[in-house]
Amino acid sequence: MKLDTKCVQGGYNPKNGEPRVAPIVQSTTFAYDTPEEMGDLFDLKKAGYFYTRLGNPTLGNLEEKVSLLEGGVGALATSSGMAATTLAILNLCDSGDNFISVSEIYGGTYNLFNVTLRRLGIECRFVDKNAKAEDIEKLIDDKTRLIFCESIANPAGTIADFDKYSKVAKKYNMVLMVDNTISTPYICRPFNFGANVIVHASTKYLDGHATSVGGIIVDGGNFEYFGNKRYPHFNEKDASYHGLVFGKDGGKGAYILRARGIGMRDIGAQMAPFNAFLTMLGIETLHLRMPRHSDNALKLAKALKEHKNVEWVKYAGLEDDEDHQRLNKYFDKGYAAGMVSFGIKGGRESAIKFQKNLKLFKIVTHIADSRSCVLHPASTTHRQLSDADLKAAGVPSNLVRLSAGTEDAEDIVNDVINALNKI
Ligand SMILES: *Cc1c(COP(=O)(O)O)cnc(C)c1O
Repeated sequence: MKLDTKCVQGGYNPKNGEPRVAPIVQSTTFAYDTPEEMGDLFDLKKAGYFYTRLGNPTLGNLEEKVSLLEGGVGALATSSGMAATTLAILNLCDSGDNFISVSEIYGGTYNLFNVTLRRLGIECRFVDKNAKAEDIEKLIDDKTRLIFCESIANPAGTIADFDKYSKVAKKYNMVLMVDNTISTPYICRPFNFGANVIVHASTKYLDGHATSVGGIIVDGGNFEYFGNKRYPHFNEKDASYHGLVFGKDGGKGAYILRARGIGMRDIGAQMAPFNAFLTMLGIETLHLRMPRHSDNALKLAKALKEHKNVEWVKYAGLEDDEDHQRLNKYFDKGYAAGMVSFGIKGGRESAIKFQKNLKLFKIVTHIADSRSCVLHPASTTHRQLSDADLKAAGVPSNLVRLSAGTEDAEDIVNDVINALNKI
């Protein structure tokens, strides 16, 4: 199947007489004829559904669809993007461990890394996006478990230097984890560029219609945990599964098996089946929406560049953008998705006036759905961050984040230009 076909049909193939559309299995549990059968499921000796926290057919359909799109060996659907990242990190890190992350990342993830995980004894060592490989290597020790980046940073708009991170990760026999939310697998497939684990907020373009908060972890199946001293949990016998060794017994899908069997089992942040159904429906048009979002955003970015009230525009789709070469290297067909960030002249005050002048664009804590929207991070999503942290996260206080929807391009551009004219 080509990518477009995977979007439409991937993850569900009905047998004779079964429903054409993947059904919503709204059931907490699954019935078995014998206790032995269910016992085997609990021991991970057999694959099958027994309790929705650990797996559900509707979630399974979505997991398979996204795994197919990314080119992975398995996936785990979670209740939100934050849950996906949390479980993905906890699958590799314990108290006393550390990991490396680019500092230009989503504000919620920055807080998770900088505050909550730190309080649990897991230290995130942030690096600047322009840090050299040698500088990153200096931060690595025996307890370093992974490198983390976003394919397109939200809201900074920069594109990850996959070659740099994957080279360092490989040299130290360490996992590269990529948040692929903003580019989506339709535009970029990080497993091709050295990623080993991908996380998603399916809340964004995968759902695409702002109906369902959700997340997904995808296992690339391209990392050998067994025999690697960095990952003791994949090499020790697990008492809760009668001595199973995840790295060995989990085969290529060891990472995702452990994320489900330990992380999801004990923390319980599974997606609701109804949300999985809506997200499946959303992905059915991902291949139609992403080109449109990208075209509209490019037109918007070009119009912004010409405007007198605009200090700078960040959109990798612009030919003179510093990330444009990287876009051509890692992303398909020059598509750069729908998120456009710009610096408004006059800072916070102008940002507020601008937002009030918009008609088509609504002020929402969201991006990446079919309706155009706007957000001023410094006064909303990133308001917990100090000015220094804001700068490190690539979110100066005059940054306005626009998300170009799939409406008519002229309507989108006119709404923004009118609002800027009226400041
Ligand atoms: C929104 C977002 C998240 C968090 O997802 P939620 O579903 O809101 O928890 C993580 N990473 C990126 C890049 C995001 O845009």
